[in-house]
Formats: sequence, C-alpha cells, structure tokens
Amino acid sequence: MKFDVLVIGGGNAALCAALMAREAGASVLLLEASPREWRGGNSQHTRNLRCMHDGPQDVLVDSYPEEEFWQDLLKVTGGITNEKLARLVIRASSSCRDWMRKHGVHFQPPLSGALHVARTNAFFMGGGKALVNAYYRSAEALGVQIRYNAPVDAIELDKGRFVAARIGSERIEARTCVLAAGGFESNREWLREAWGQINGEWVADNFLIRGTRFNKGTLLKFMIDAGADAIGDPTQAHMVAIDARAPLYDGGICTRVDCVSLGVVVNSHAERFYDEGEDFWPKRYAIWGRLVAQQPGQIGYSIIDSKAIGRFMPPVFPGVKAASLPELAQKLGLDEQTFMRTLNDYNAACRVGTFDHAVLDDCHTEGLTPSKTHWARPIDTAPFYAYALRPGVTFTYLGLKVNEQAAVHFGGEPSPNLFVAGEMMAGNVLGKGYTAGVGMSIGTAFGRIAGTQAAQAAMKIKQKDTEYAAA
Ligand SMILES: Cc1cc2nc3c(=O)[nH]c(=O)nc-3n(C[C@H](O)[C@H](O)[C@H](O)COP(=O)(O)OP(=O)(O)OC[C@H]3O[C@@H](n4cnc5c(N)ncnc54)[C@H](O)[C@@H]3O)c2cc1C
Repeated sequence: MKFDVLVIGGGNAALCAALMAREAGASVLLLEASPREWRGGNSQHTRNLRCMHDGPQDVLVDSYPEEEFWQDLLKVTGGITNEKLARLVIRASSSCRDWMRKHGVHFQPPLSGALHVARTNAFFMGGGKALVNAYYRSAEALGVQIRYNAPVDAIELDKGRFVAARIGSERIEARTCVLAAGGFESNREWLREAWGQINGEWVADNFLIRGTRFNKGTLLKFMIDAGADAIGDPTQAHMVAIDARAPLYDGGICTRVDCVSLGVVVNSHAERFYDEGEDFWPKRYAIWGRLVAQQPGQIGYSIIDSKAIGRFMPPVFPGVKAASLPELAQKLGLDEQTFMRTLNDYNAACRVGTFDHAVLDDCHTEGLTPSKTHWARPIDTAPFYAYALRPGVTFTYLGLKVNEQAAVHFGGEPSPNLFVAGEMMAGNVLGKGYTAGVGMSIGTAFGRIAGTQAAQAAMKIKQKDTEYAAA
C-alpha cells in the first residue's frame, strides 16, 4: 500500500505531524528507529512546554504575552533567530494545549523545585513519557500505522520531490513525507568532527548525551549531502552541565545540576571562569554545558555551602560533602592552594544585600574577575558540597531550512512534498542559547504544521493521480 504521508521519527514532532495528517484524512505510516520500549526520542524526557498567554489559563498563572516571549528568545539567541518563524511558534504555543488534551495529554501546575516557570511553562502530568504514550495511543486509535525498529537510512529524491524512504534494501513509497528524526547528538563521530581537538584530545569524547541514543543524524546528513538547504552551526546545541557520573545516554532530567547560581563553579585548575549569577537559571542553564566543554578536560565543579541546600532541585546522586573547603578540594583532587585562593577571593568580593533567589537580587561581587552579578554570598557555612560537571548534550541545532509551511528547501526552493519538524529544523528559531520549554513549543508548532501541509499536498497529488488515471 502506498501511504499518503510517511512520517520519519517517533518523538513529539513526528507524533504531532502524524496525528494532524491523520485528522486531515490522510493515511499515515510512522517509522520509529527505536524498539517500542525506547520509543519517543528525547521527547520522552521532557517535562513542559513554553506557552504564550495573555491572562491566567488553566495551569498557567498571570500572563506571558507574545512580546515578552519574543524578547526572551531574542535575548538568548543573541538575535540568531528568524522572527517570522519564531513568532509563528510563539502564537501557536498559546492555542495548542486543547488539541494536546484531545489526544490524551494532561497538564499540571509545576511542583515546587521547578525553576521559576509557573508563569511561562505548562507541565505534562507524568512528564514526556506520558505525553508520548498518549500520542501513540491516540495515533493507533485513529489508524496511524506504526513501525518500530525502522531506522531510515536514505531518502530517494527527484529534483527536490520526495519519492521513497529506504531502510537498507527496503523501499517505502509515499505521496508526501515529514522528516522528524531529531538532531545528531548521539553521533559521536559527527560531534568529534564539529568540536575538533584541544591538546590532542577530542573535546566531544567527554560529552554525555542526556537523551536518546537513536538520534544519530543519519537523515540530517543525508539531506544536507543531497542538497537540502541547511541552517545553523554544528557546534551549537542545547548543552547543560550535568553530573559527571551520569550515564552516557538517557540520564534525563535527574542528572542536571541546578545549584550553579547558588555557589561558584571552578575548572580543573580550581579557577572560576564565568558569572554564575548572570541571569535566572532557566535562562542560563543551557549555556553551562558549553562553558564546561570549553574548559580543560571538559570538567567543572559546582561548589556550594549548606545555605544553598533546599533551594534547588537536588540531582539524583548526592554531592561530595566535606566539613571544610580544604577538605573539599582534596576530595575533588583539586590543587588546594589555588582552590582556597579562588574561594577566599570570591568570599571577600561578595557584597551581600538582600538575598532573594526568586529575583535578580543585589548580592554581587566587587573587583572580581569574572564577577558574580547576583546571588553572591560567601561560601562559608559547613558542610560544603561539590558536584563534578560534564557537558550534557540535549540536542543539536544544525538543521534544515524551512518556511512557514515547514517545507524542506533545495537551493532556496521549497519542496512540494517534503516537510520537516522538531529538532531537525529547530535551528531556524534557535541559532544559539535556549529558554526552557521552547524545544517542545517548536516541535509541537512545526509538527502540526508539517502534518497538515503533508496531508494537503498528498490530497492534491492523489487528486491529480485520479484525474490522470481517468483521462
Ligand atoms: C533530558 C531532556 C529533557 C528535556 N526537557 C525538555 C522540556 O522540559 N521542554 C522542552 O521543550 N524540551 C525539552 N527537551 C528537548 C526536547 O526533548 C526536544 O526539543 C524535543 O523532544 C524534540 O522533539 P523531536 O520530535 O524533534 O525529537 P525526538 O523526540 O528526539 O524524536 C526523534 C525521533 O526520531 C527517531 N529517529 C532518529 N533517527 C531516525 C531514523 N533514521 N529513522 C527513523 N527514526 C529515527 C528517534 O528514535 C526519535 O524517536 C529535553 C530534552 C532532554 C534530552
């Protein structure tokens, strides 16, 4: 059977596309690279999506107007974003929740420990795993055909038009296709190539992957090599500083270390290297993976004292604990003298005003490089704690260029029947940086657009075929 719409991928973007295409009346086949038990890509690890709203709405308090969302995005990306596409995502984020509910997704107010996001982010009850399961259930009920263990390795194209997908020697034809196969974060070779070597060491060899092992970028590479227009820089990614003891894949949310803004971070030379209090943690956590990646040996150490305990969501592994700072240095294997100089300089430079972790407070350092601009309090109250940090790659930003119809482009021309959604095109909106929850906003908006467009294009093709057969 030739399907109207072929969806490649099995995460949020793919499922949104499959559901929309099916709702529009198209026959749909979804190909997921992973086995059933690992289905859902990085989406299974998510917790929330960022939503614009002009007033209180179900689980969201106050308001988060379009302009504020846009300014947040502009700030974190440093302007490397496409305003038209970004605003499309922002507007779509205000109206998608009813559709999501219809397909079985439930929302809940954030639990305590969520990061200043009660106003901006809607949380999925049961997390991304429950969301993905709900979408699969709904897709199956609607008649979407699903195949697991189906890693597509090539696409047959005819002058920018999709013809068929290939899994080894198997060939799967369809009238239209949506690519939603994630980034290339699980492809170590590609990460190596992008990040290169420092002092003879491959920087990327010290990266951990927070999500799925199935996002190898096979189709992204294939499409770029086949002449599809690309956007973004291969070294740009959502990269969080995570517990160095996290597993290589699928450590998920519980390995994130969220106490950076409450203390200081030093590198393997026991020296600070960045302003830990630059901005609220949800707006800054995604730069710390990158900052640690730029340090010798790609390792950092987040240092706090007992005043910080209870003010952040603790990671799954307990921190290294010590009764004194010199003891902490010894336990971490850091040069004690340098460590104490760094900590003493920091402590002496703190100008403590009114500490308030919920606002950009006036606790800051003076005469220290780098400075700490908020939440700067001396680290002086035992016991002391440390977490070793490694770069944890969430997803890469290099992707395929799209227009408002989510069409893949070749030499600036949109394909009539090939569309792309999710991480595979997130770089159109996210040139760099991140603001919590926007990955799912992008995937949901463009997944839904891609599915609708693919269904429409398939109907047109079908009609033409029928007319041709009748003539
Ligand atoms: C730990 C963690 C927490 C996160 N938390 C949040 C959050 O709370 N909010 C938020 O907005 N974002 C969050 N993100 C980011 C978010 O996961 C992504 O932005 C989003 O899930 C992307 O959806 P996607 O469908 O494009 O990709 P994915 O969900 O990764 O799906 C890609 C799919 O493609 C499949 N695939 C890959 N290659 C092939 C192939 N060749 N053939 C067939 N199938 C293939 C994979 O198996 C997978 O099913 C988080 C990510 C991680 C890792």
